Amino acid sequence: MHPARAQIPVPAMKRRLGCLVGLTLLAAHLPAAAQSPALDEVRRVAGEDNRVQDHLRVLTRRYGPRLTGSEVLYDAQVWALETFRSFGLEARLERWGEFPVGFHRGPSSARVTAPAERELECITRCWSAGTLGPVEGRAVVTPRNHEELEALRADLPGAWILGRRLGRDERRAWERELAGDDEGADGTRLLEELEEAFDAACEEAGIAGRVRSGPADGLLVTGGNHRVDPDDLPEEVSITLRGDQFREVMEDIEAGHEVRLEFDIDNRFVPGPIDLYNVIADLEGTEFPDEYVIVQAHIDSWDGAQGACDNGTGTSTTLEAARLLAGLGLRPRRTIRFILYGGEEQGLLGSAAYVEQHAEELERVSIVLNHDNGPNPLKGISATEAMLADFERVFAPVKELDSERPFEVLEGDGIRGGASDHASFVNKGVPGFHWIQNQEGYRHVHHTQHDTFEYADADDQAFNATVVALSAWGFAQLDGLVDRTNMRAPQPRRMGIQLDGNRVARVTPGMRAAEAGWKVDDVILSIDGVETTSRGKVVRELQQGGPSKSFVLRRGEEEVASTLDYSDDPDEPRRKEAAVERGRRRERRARERAERRRGQAGDEEGSEDG
Ligand SMILES: [Zn+2]
Repeated sequence: MHPARAQIPVPAMKRRLGCLVGLTLLAAHLPAAAQSPALDEVRRVAGEDNRVQDHLRVLTRRYGPRLTGSEVLYDAQVWALETFRSFGLEARLERWGEFPVGFHRGPSSARVTAPAERELECITRCWSAGTLGPVEGRAVVTPRNHEELEALRADLPGAWILGRRLGRDERRAWERELAGDDEGADGTRLLEELEEAFDAACEEAGIAGRVRSGPADGLLVTGGNHRVDPDDLPEEVSITLRGDQFREVMEDIEAGHEVRLEFDIDNRFVPGPIDLYNVIADLEGTEFPDEYVIVQAHIDSWDGAQGACDNGTGTSTTLEAARLLAGLGLRPRRTIRFILYGGEEQGLLGSAAYVEQHAEELERVSIVLNHDNGPNPLKGISATEAMLADFERVFAPVKELDSERPFEVLEGDGIRGGASDHASFVNKGVPGFHWIQNQEGYRHVHHTQHDTFEYADADDQAFNATVVALSAWGFAQLDGLVDRTNMRAPQPRRMGIQLDGNRVARVTPGMRAAEAGWKVDDVILSIDGVETTSRGKVVRELQQGGPSKSFVLRRGEEEVASTLDYSDDPDEPRRKEAAVERGRRRERRARERAERRRGQAGDEEGSEDG
């Protein structure tokens, strides 16, 4: 615990958000289930005094990026803990594991010092070595052949080595260039030999480090591997330079200039083991205290910017939902548990540990609502047929919240998990959801140097926090737990091949296609009599209809018939059910459309009569 940080008041700023003010006026038009004094109160406070941006500002500006295992993450988690407690919740830090070594990224700078001075922008991976002060050296480009290698040997001591960013085709071309006219030469082997010789020369000379190019769009993406050996820490300095700046440096060298670079990268390893935590806060239920609705987000982030949209936004909506509900003194029927995980960016580690540590509670978890999809408005959630009635009831007030931010309950084949902490629950059979959100603009900030506070729109954030609060309350007030019948979406049928268009590019040994004798370069002409001229058509037709699929393949000059039979696939019964459910949904939608048309026709007749 850090006593100096123990009592941090949340800045109390009153702000009126035009779009949310007056929400209480809507209450008169809501369905009966959505009309409750508690919801009215939540909507009123959410509209008049929403603090979600205050939480985000503290998280991103006072603390900053929160790499798992860093002191900043621990401090931010203690702040979140105290913040939950200040709302009147029971809160605690729960230890879930440790990292052998921590990592601290200090300030860094990069510049060209010759031929003309200019600033550069770069990133290094987490848990990689820094420079221990400014290191200046000549920029040397990786040699294309052994003659070039010999010519630049004298330049290697203290040099920054510029790696080439090569696609597969460019690498093949380089291999052919090395093989030259010699038909029997193995170009791949020759290139490997050149690379080994160059690595040995670099090691012998003592280079400053390696510099490679970021992608052409100018983004600098942060990542890194926490599995480092404390007795054998990484020593090589490896820097990614912004793509456009890397290209300029290469152009200067190709124009014959001697280019010199200087990097000052303050990366530090922190001796471990480092204890790692999740923050857990409970708003205890009155009627079913040991049943749970879980509202969650990961509070950890990569450390290339401020971790604002991944995932300060989810953290701040979770905190604000807690404040809106607990701050009003509301007591739900079942317990609403708020969780802020660590270790998400390293592979959902905090939530994976949570479901193990709380295994005996999982059958009493009604639903998990995970917010980790960026700053845009929450616009929907996907339910199964069995869940639909409850979801319609819970989300009725959410749908009425803001006419500019429509929200939909979609009916789908089931839950598929995904790449955030709800997946840890889905893997254990618990209904875990992430919100459907527009992804527009998210790529620009996701794990990049642009993920800062300014990118999260205050009105969208206020709306999102209100959606989270209202839906958590709604699920906590239901008579029963969310229905898990047919919850998991069936896995798609797999052939065990890689496709290039409708041509087989690779056959995986032991899988269905291999056992049926398929060969690389077979072309899939049709499935069950339907022509498959593209990859998309192959993938789509494979999932249609019954379990026995008849293929026509072109192999060389001839056409070959082949059958892949999925009858023994354990997912096949669920696929059949899902297809029936899809058919029912289609029929219902068609019926609803027809009714709407009849209704409109009736209105028009009426107006003509009038
Ligand atoms: Zn995330």
